Amino acid sequence: MIKEIEILVEMQKRDDIISEKDILTETLPRELNSLIKNLEEADLVQENTKNDLDENLTAQKLKELDINDNNEHIEKYKNQLLTIKTNKEYKALNSEVSHLETKNSQIDDELIVLMEEETVLRDNLKEAEIKQKYAEEQLKANEEKLKRKIEQVKKDIEEIRKKRNELARNLSRQLVKRYGALIRNKGKKAVVFNIKNACSGCGYTIRPQLIIEIREGNKIVSCENCGRMLVSESKD
Ligand SMILES: [Zn+2]
Repeated sequence: MIKEIEILVEMQKRDDIISEKDILTETLPRELNSLIKNLEEADLVQENTKNDLDENLTAQKLKELDINDNNEHIEKYKNQLLTIKTNKEYKALNSEVSHLETKNSQIDDELIVLMEEETVLRDNLKEAEIKQKYAEEQLKANEEKLKRKIEQVKKDIEEIRKKRNELARNLSRQLVKRYGALIRNKGKKAVVFNIKNACSGCGYTIRPQLIIEIREGNKIVSCENCGRMLVSESKD
């Protein structure tokens, strides 16, 4: 039985490494996804800012056209004023001119607001471009590295699992089944140690009779609380 216990301890060591590497199989892809997402977001911000700037410039152009159009009318009315005969007509035309002048001054105010917005948008676009470039560089610099690491971890796990399964071939089917069930159901810990007369898996105090049995190593002792296989404190 001592030989079997040693094998179980070795199998547990392999499963401990697999557990550690399993975490990497989640964190590494997450790291990669976050870099991809960062770039997507940076692309989107840049695109939206660019669109906002384009819209702003179009709006400015339209307002300038309006001002020009109004100015042409003003010019025309002013020329007409020189040839007008009646007071009534003069008044009407004069009021139209001042109406257009007021309108132009309003449009001018709106243009100033748009130009201020343009300055902000150009700054934002510059910032967005820098962030986009950085996100692109980050992904470029890490993508292959992370993909390689992910592949390596998968390969490592496969190899360790193979070695663990080779070890398992030296045990009875029943014992392997029991070990496997504990690994699945007990937080990847099937084999635990007697550490200062307590189970290292759950902390439950081990009865003196069981402590003797564990030390003798003639049979596999289960923790009376968690059911894991108890072995003597590891020497390494
Ligand atoms: Zn226990």
